[in-house]
Amino acid sequence: MDKPVSMKIPAGPGPLVDPFARQITYLRLSVTDRCDLRCTYCMEENVRFVPRNQLLTLEELDRLAASFIALGVRKIRLTGGEPLVRKGVIWLVEQLSRHLESGALDELTLTSNGTQLSRFAGQLADAGVKRINISLDTRDPQKFSDITRRGDLSTVLAGIDAALAAGLKVKINMVAIRDFNDDEIADMMTWAHEKGMDLTLIEVMPFGDGERWLPNLFSLEDVRAKLGERFTFEELPVSTGGPARYVKVRETGGRLGLITPMSGNFCEGCNRIRVTCRGRLYQCLGHETFVDLRAAVQQHADDEALIDAIRSAIAAKPEGHDFEQRRRCGVPGARRDMSATGG
Ligand code: SAM
Ligand code: SF4
Repeated sequence: MDKPVSMKIPAGPGPLVDPFARQITYLRLSVTDRCDLRCTYCMEENVRFVPRNQLLTLEELDRLAASFIALGVRKIRLTGGEPLVRKGVIWLVEQLSRHLESGALDELTLTSNGTQLSRFAGQLADAGVKRINISLDTRDPQKFSDITRRGDLSTVLAGIDAALAAGLKVKINMVAIRDFNDDEIADMMTWAHEKGMDLTLIEVMPFGDGERWLPNLFSLEDVRAKLGERFTFEELPVSTGGPARYVKVRETGGRLGLITPMSGNFCEGCNRIRVTCRGRLYQCLGHETFVDLRAAVQQHADDEALIDAIRSAIAAKPEGHDFEQRRRCGVPGARRDMSATGG
């Protein structure tokens, strides 16, 4: 069971700094746990969603985001579930874009499965979104339908084209799964780079049904070594403030990112926190403790209680996750779906 953490520390001025001297500047805000796909590594087929009356309203999400920005958050990523299935999400993006205009926020972005982008890409670009991550694990229509349990690949490919046509910079996220899509990685990379998109590979993490894929986990260092037989990599000193390490691929001119939560050091320098659509602040993807911000958002007209609760949560941010250690010890992964935490 998830456990709320309670630790009282005073509200006050100054940025959010955790006990390991990491400044929190990046908020991943889940606007819904619902999704029009059911990716097998992300959620169970008959997933039970959060009751609608427990969801924060769009106005509450806006207020929450503003409090984080006041505390020094410079980048917000809307996620989910699928953020673009939340009714009114474009209103929220438009509201949040005021912080881009004021200079308080450096970036407002989304992670999306791409199914709704043909409809929304133009509106996102108009609201100030410049970049978007789109998840795509395979370009084989049957495999796409299998891994998402229902998806139509052509809809997502059209969504990607719509995003590019709207002027959005696109990064493709591909969860790498042995014996499922490992034979497609090189093609996915050249395809993405030809279209001017970066590609990031992600190791599958033990969430919900994701545990079922752990035997198919493989180290992205092995993938990199295999790709290295065909491509030349130049190390890039790029720090996105995130867990991805990037290389430039000389033959294509594009960038390849590797996110290695299972096999590589992922937590050092972590500057991020996650807030779910019901207002739970998870300090770390790999831990089950959270601080519930909902009461502070809903019951107090002023922001003091909310800021107090946010600071308490940051004071309890763990140093890092322990997926690999737990796997070696046979301890199950986090007992929630990725979609519930906000990927
Ligand atoms: N629906 C959107 C999407 O698919 O991009 C946003 C939410 S999704 C939870 C965010 C990211 O988490 C996606 O790139 C997805 O592939 C990734 N993800 C989900 N479950 C995962 C798991 N068990 N291991 C690694 N990545 C996972
Ligand atoms: Fe939906 Fe994204 Fe999870 Fe797939 S990874 S089920 S698209 S939330």
